[in-house]
Amino acid sequence: MRFKIWGSRGSIPSPLTPQELERKTEKYLQDFCKSPYYANKNIQDFLSDKKIGSGSSFGGNTTCIELIGEQSLIIDGGSGLRLKGNELMAGPCGKGQGEVHIYMTHFHWDHVMGIPFFVPIFIPGNNIHFYSVDPNLEQAIKLVFTKPYFPVPFSALASKIHFHQIPPRQSTSIAGFEVTPFKLDHPDPCWGVKVSNGGKNYSHVVDNEGKRVSRADLGEDLPLYQDIDLMYFDSQYGFDDFLKKIDWGHSSAFIGMDIAFREKIKKVIFTHHDPMATDEQLSKMIKANKEYYDVQKSFFEHEFEWAFAFDGLEVGI
Ligand SMILES: [Zn+2]
Ligand SMILES: [Zn+2]
Repeated sequence: MRFKIWGSRGSIPSPLTPQELERKTEKYLQDFCKSPYYANKNIQDFLSDKKIGSGSSFGGNTTCIELIGEQSLIIDGGSGLRLKGNELMAGPCGKGQGEVHIYMTHFHWDHVMGIPFFVPIFIPGNNIHFYSVDPNLEQAIKLVFTKPYFPVPFSALASKIHFHQIPPRQSTSIAGFEVTPFKLDHPDPCWGVKVSNGGKNYSHVVDNEGKRVSRADLGEDLPLYQDIDLMYFDSQYGFDDFLKKIDWGHSSAFIGMDIAFREKIKKVIFTHHDPMATDEQLSKMIKANKEYYDVQKSFFEHEFEWAFAFDGLEVGI
């Protein structure tokens, strides 16, 4: 299966400001003038070297990811869902023949704000399926289409919308994926999810403070971290901030690293970036993370790949 990020930001969209863009452009131009590419004006190779769009800028859309097998499973409807909707409109959804499957972890703004701007939901003939452990699923989605916050009422949506309440800690088959929800540590109920497909396991641990870390404390939710090929982990804060933001419901990359070392997870992507974190600050967090990883790996007989999420990142699992 493949994994694609449509929005990696937490809490609220945070687009690059014109001032930040100007600063970034100035730095790139200075670097270009000093680089060997300057002599033959090879801008394309310079940009590939700088890895623009693959980690030097992280993006500002809120949380939405997609797992791609023979079919596709979307997790959460943050502002990134708008872009996924635009892509879908080029396929069967544009003709009213689309089947869309969206698993909802919970209903905080940053996880639902893309839903009213998801164009396939307005197209007659499309079937849009929402899944959640939460018995309030239907009510929570309908509330998003409520005046005066949004002009189109739910009853006027042209697609056929289906609500599926699924059981916690039991596997449900959705669009060819085996989906098992587990409880996360968050102020309102939030259900992470383990998704299996083609012999690989994905673990979605976003909007999670990580108060429970030991195997004993995780208890019946421990399987969310076991036998995992890719874990997508909430690291909204650097470790110092994390210690000051008790009960805010978000974690730090160090916590995810500790779990990944112990449970021998193969790959981790850190996400739900704080809207206050600039590209420069996120790059500093990556550096701090690398130092932590290098120290810790000498204590564990395990190494794993890790990266910070950015909008548009796509990897195989
Ligand atoms: Zn969130
Ligand atoms: Zn939340």
